[in-house]
This record gives sequence, structure tokens and C-alpha cells, in this order.
Amino acid sequence: MASRLSAFFIIFADMATALSSDIQYLSGVGPKRAALLRSELGVETFGDLIHVYPFRYIDRSRIWHIGEVTGDLAYVQIQGTVRSATLLGPKGATVMAGGGPVVPVAAKRLSVMVEDGTGEMEMVFFKGIKWNAEKLKPGCTFLFFGKPSEFNGRLNIVHPEIDAPVAGGAEAKGTLTGVYPSTEKLKNGGITGKVMCKLQASALSACLPEIRETLPEYVLKDNALVPLSYALRNIHFPADHYALEKSVRRLKFEELFFLQLSLLKQKYVRSRGTEGLPVNKVGTAFNSCYNALPYELTGAQKRVIREIHNDMKSGHQMNRLLQGDVGSGKTMVAVLSALLAIDNGYQACIMAPTEVLAQQHFANISRYLEPTGVRCTLLTGSSTRKERREIDEGLRDGSIGIIVGTHALLEDNVVFRALGLAIIDEQHRFGVDQRAKLWSKGPCIPPHVLVMTATPIPRTLAMTLYGDLDVSVIDELPPGRKPVKTTMISDAKKGSVYNFMRRQIELGRQVFVVYPLIFESEKMDLNNLEMGYEEIIRRFPDPEYKVAIVHGQQTAEVKNFNMAAFAAGRAQILVSTTVIEVGVDVPNASVMVIESAQRFGLSQLHQLRGRVGRGADESYCILVHDYKTSAEARKRLELMCSTNDGFEIAEEDMKMRGPGDLEGTQQSGLPVKLSIASLAKDGIMLNEARVYADRVLDADPSLSLPANSLLAAGLREGKYDIKDYSKIS
Ligand code: ADP
Ligand code: MG
Repeated sequence: MASRLSAFFIIFADMATALSSDIQYLSGVGPKRAALLRSELGVETFGDLIHVYPFRYIDRSRIWHIGEVTGDLAYVQIQGTVRSATLLGPKGATVMAGGGPVVPVAAKRLSVMVEDGTGEMEMVFFKGIKWNAEKLKPGCTFLFFGKPSEFNGRLNIVHPEIDAPVAGGAEAKGTLTGVYPSTEKLKNGGITGKVMCKLQASALSACLPEIRETLPEYVLKDNALVPLSYALRNIHFPADHYALEKSVRRLKFEELFFLQLSLLKQKYVRSRGTEGLPVNKVGTAFNSCYNALPYELTGAQKRVIREIHNDMKSGHQMNRLLQGDVGSGKTMVAVLSALLAIDNGYQACIMAPTEVLAQQHFANISRYLEPTGVRCTLLTGSSTRKERREIDEGLRDGSIGIIVGTHALLEDNVVFRALGLAIIDEQHRFGVDQRAKLWSKGPCIPPHVLVMTATPIPRTLAMTLYGDLDVSVIDELPPGRKPVKTTMISDAKKGSVYNFMRRQIELGRQVFVVYPLIFESEKMDLNNLEMGYEEIIRRFPDPEYKVAIVHGQQTAEVKNFNMAAFAAGRAQILVSTTVIEVGVDVPNASVMVIESAQRFGLSQLHQLRGRVGRGADESYCILVHDYKTSAEARKRLELMCSTNDGFEIAEEDMKMRGPGDLEGTQQSGLPVKLSIASLAKDGIMLNEARVYADRVLDADPSLSLPANSLLAAGLREGKYDIKDYSKIS
């Protein structure tokens, strides 16, 4: 009984710490504000609050001379003497003091002219007029702080903060004030910037004695990091710029380091623990294909094939992500990698997300394989029973070298004699489980795995999202590719788009017209697509024109039939939803018209555009948008018009998507939540953290040394686990 009682007290004592105290008990909070802090910022405890950091700082450490101030500066502080204060406004403007012109304008306001010997500036007040007029007497000196702007050719600050002057004027030192993430609800609930600062101060003073260091001593030393308690104090209330910089660095590094540590640890477990099939030899299958290639491989293709070969002969299992923009020639890399496996006595499979794609891969790959004599087959949902029997046999006796297919490859009755390499195209269409299923198809050692994606992901992001994979990048397009000419056009001018389509069709080309999924309900989306289809048929009537339509609601059979009609040139126009986004290759198609383009994300627009520009002809992408296009969407479309580089687009995309709904929060769409570091902006530090995490794991892969106990504990919290890679596209 006694021991149970004392255990109770220990738990109770633990719960009573400041860090875990309910936020409503912080002085100045109470139940109402606590509810707001919870719903708006996810803050439940004192400890949660001190991990809400300012996202910018008002630099009050400097006093500007009015003569140096320009309208494009962020915030400035000036120290000046009031020359005049004038009430301007609609109802019989009155001169309050000092004189000056009286201009009738719409809003009633107080205009205060301030000078400091280097120039003069206007302070404007729409609210608190009486109070400010009494306070700001001509001849008196104050500190004014705010955002300068230019109005009617002169500088002003609207509603500056006003403080008593400091002795020493422009030479004086002040402090940096944090600005916290906020929302309308928070402000309306009385949690203004100033209040937030006060709350942080009380929470900090309660919590600081309890803060325990989260990084081992040697990690702090190696990376010149300040202690956690110092960082927490100075991120909220910086002693000076230097202290702030050190604190930000410490907190960001910690986040990125733990993130990388978590990812790399998984990778270590795999690469050290999983034996890999020996794929050493470069033999006749590889060479006969290579020597018969109708073109020279690009430098990037050669490099990537070397990387893959190095992995496959390392003795460990390969898990590599191959990134390459649309049209960069990933298929060839896949084929040559598969042939390496075959030269060493293994089989290979290539899995594609759709039947159309699998068929296309099969056709292309078969052509490449002709000089090698390697047998290749296709397995999809529509393979016949007889075909399946033959495939079964060929896979089991090893006479089939390469099999191309859809999800059908994952079925249990697909059994290989010796699967050495599994290649997955457009990996983001598959789940982790499906990838894992392929693993189990190896002889007894799992096959090497190569996943390919045409969705360019910024390097920093790839490092995180695919941190447990090795990443290869084909960053070079085959020579002679012409960039797709891209324009944006308002849907009021659709007529000219139809004319352009007609001219291209006369030249023998084909046209894609793509509709987005606009409405919540699939049925309405379909209506929208069908309305578009009917309009196109009216403008491009049978028999002169043939128009095919493809969408997700059709059966595989109908879809394939229509796709095939377009691919074979029997239809000049293909109207579709985004089902054609992935991989489909119709070299004769030279025009991609994207309807309601403002509704698409950048990476999707880029994928769609990649469907054209595959042949020798000049090709075009037309982004049709409507009058509701937001400034942000317009920026996306403009970016599409200005570049064809998928990586550039991906980088910009990441920057644009930066802040979410909440001012000051970051990357809401990611599967891991970072509170201060930004994958978009802290690429260099991310890399630094990764290299260091690698070093730590190299010395202690299981993090079991006493010196690393803090790290092992940090990982156990699970904050940095990325749960489902398959969600990322
Ligand atoms: P993706 O990376 O989008 O899968 P593909 O493998 O389909 O690209 O290649 C696109 C086109 O480029 C194909 O028609 C292919 O034959 C051609 N191609 C691939 N590599 C080269 C190269 N080194 N030189 C010229 N053309 C190439
Ligand atoms: Mg491809």
C-alpha cells in the first residue's frame, strides 16, 4: 500500500511540473483564452507555448535617421521632434496646432509632422486621435516605430508605436521584439502581439528551470550549438542579433538533425541488415542492348546506371529512387539495369500504375530488347487465362527475363525463379505495402529495388521524404529537345484557342484537352468534362474531326480503346481528366490545352505539359484560366510560362506553398511537422545535419552508447517519424 501511494505521489509530482501545466493556469490566460490558444495554435501546456516561436522580429535595436528612410523598408524606428499636429478630415477640418495646409479628404485623421534634423516625416492616426493629439505636442521629442510607406510622394507611418525618447538618440541600443503567429480569432480574444510576449515571458520563467538539454554535449560542441535553455530564452527575447542567430541555428539544427537521424537510422538498419544479391558482371545482354542503342546515352543516364550498378554489387540490397523530369529517358535506365540483373542470372520486373502505361512500356522495352534475345512479357488485369499460364511457367522456369505489368504483378500466384531487380515506375501511385510485397518475391534474399518518379522534388525535400532511400537524379534531357511553348489565356478568348487547335490539326498534329476535377462530387466533375466534350464536338464536328474522351468513370476496356484510338492517330483530339497525367507517350501530339488551369498545382501542370514536346515538332501548352483566378494561381501560371525546368518549378512551388493559413507556420502539407526549420529555406543546414547524423550513426548505428542516450530517447518520442511515403507526389 505504502509503495503504491508513493508511486502515486511520484506521478503526481511529475504531472505538476510547469512544462506540463495546463495553459489556462498561466497568469493572464484563464479558460477562455486557453480554449483559443488550444484551437488556434494547438497549445495545451506551458511547454507547448514556449515552443511557439516568433516567425519574425521587429528590429528595435536601431534608430534610423529620417533622411535614410525609404518606403520599401520593413520596420523603422526614428527619434524625432513634433513640428505640427493637424486634424484633417471631412467635417470642417480644424487646425490643432502649428498650422499647415488644411486639405479636405475622405477620412478623418490626425497628421503629425516630425523632424530629426535629417528630414521630416508624417505620422498618421485614424484612431485615438484625441489622445494622440494631446500627447504629441509640438516641440516634444518621441521614439516612433512602424512600417514606413510612401503616400502622395511623401513618407509616412500609419499608427506608429510611440515611446519616450532615449538619451543618445540614433546612437542608442534597443531590443528585438518577436512577432508570433496569430489569427483574427486570437486578436479578437485579446491575445495581441503584446499580450503574447507577456505570456511567453511568464511561461518561460516558470519553465526554464525545468528545461533539460536534448542534445549530447559532444553534438553541441561539434556543431558549435548553444544550450537549449539559452536558445529558448533568446528565441523569444533575444539579447541581441548575435544571440538570436545562435538560438535560431540551435533550434533549427536540432529539428533537422533528429529528422535525418530518424531517417538514416532506418536506412542503416536496412543496408547493414539486408544482404543483397550479387550483381557484379556486365555481360552480353547488357552489352548487346547498349551497343545497338540508336542514340548516345546522356551523361546523366550513364552516371545513374553506374550508381545503380555500384549499389547492386555492394553486397547490400539496393533501395534507390530515380528522379528524372518527364522525357529525361528513365525507361532506358530501367532496361539497362534490368539487363545487368539478367547478366548475373536473375530476372527483373517493371511495374507501372496503369494498364496503358504498362502496355506502352512493354512495347518500348521489347524493341530495346530485340538485339539481346531476352524474353519479355506483359501481365495486366486483362491478361487471359491462357496467357497467365504461359507467364507462370516462364517465370518459374526462368525463361522469361523481364516482365512488365500493373498491380497484377503483386498477386500471390506470380512466382519468380530468381527475381533480382524490381523496378517501380511512378512510385507515388503505389503504397508502401505494395512496394514491400515485391520484396517478398525474391528467391530468399530480397531483390534490389529501383523506384522511378517524374515528379521532380527539390533535393532538400527528397532528402527528407525519401531519406531512407538513395537518390539518383537525371538532370539532363536528351539533346535536341525543344522546350514547350507555354501561354496563358483567359477563357473569354477561347475562340482563338479553337482556331489554333484547328491549324495544328491541319498540320497533322494532335491535341490534348484536359479538365481538372473541379467539384467535390465525381458526378459533377463528369458533367463538367462532358459539357466541355460537347462543346469541342460542336466546334470540331464529325466526320472531319474525331474526338476521343477518357475519364476515370469508364471501364478499363473503354478507356484503353479511346486511348489507343488517340495514340494510333485515329482521333485528333483527346478530351480527358487528369488520367493522362502519367507517362502516356503520343509523340505526334503537339498541343496540350489545360482548362481551368488555375485549379491545378504546379507539379500537376508540369506533368501534364510533359505529355507534349516528345516529337520533333514545335509544341505548345495553353493554360486556359477564368476571371476568378487568384493572384497566387496567376503566379503559378506565370511560372509555368517562364520555365520548362521541372526542378526549378518544384523549388518555386515549395517556396510559394510556404506559409499555410496561419501566418508564420510552415509547410502544412508535409507528413512531418517542423516547428522552426523550413525544408524550403534551410537546405544547407539540412545537408549539414544529414552529414553529421550520418557520422553519428556510423560510429554507433544502434545509438546504444551512453553518450547517445539522449539521441535514442529523442527518437523514441517519434516526433520525426514520417509515416506514409506513398502520400507524397
Ligand atoms: P521518361 O523519363 O519520361 O520515362 P522516356 O524514357 O520515355 O522518358 O524517354 C523519352 C524519349 O526520349 C523516348 O522516346 C526515348 O527513346 C528518348 N531517349 C531516351 N534517352 C535518350 C538519349 N540519350 N538520346 C536521345 N533520345 C533519348
Ligand atoms: Mg516514363
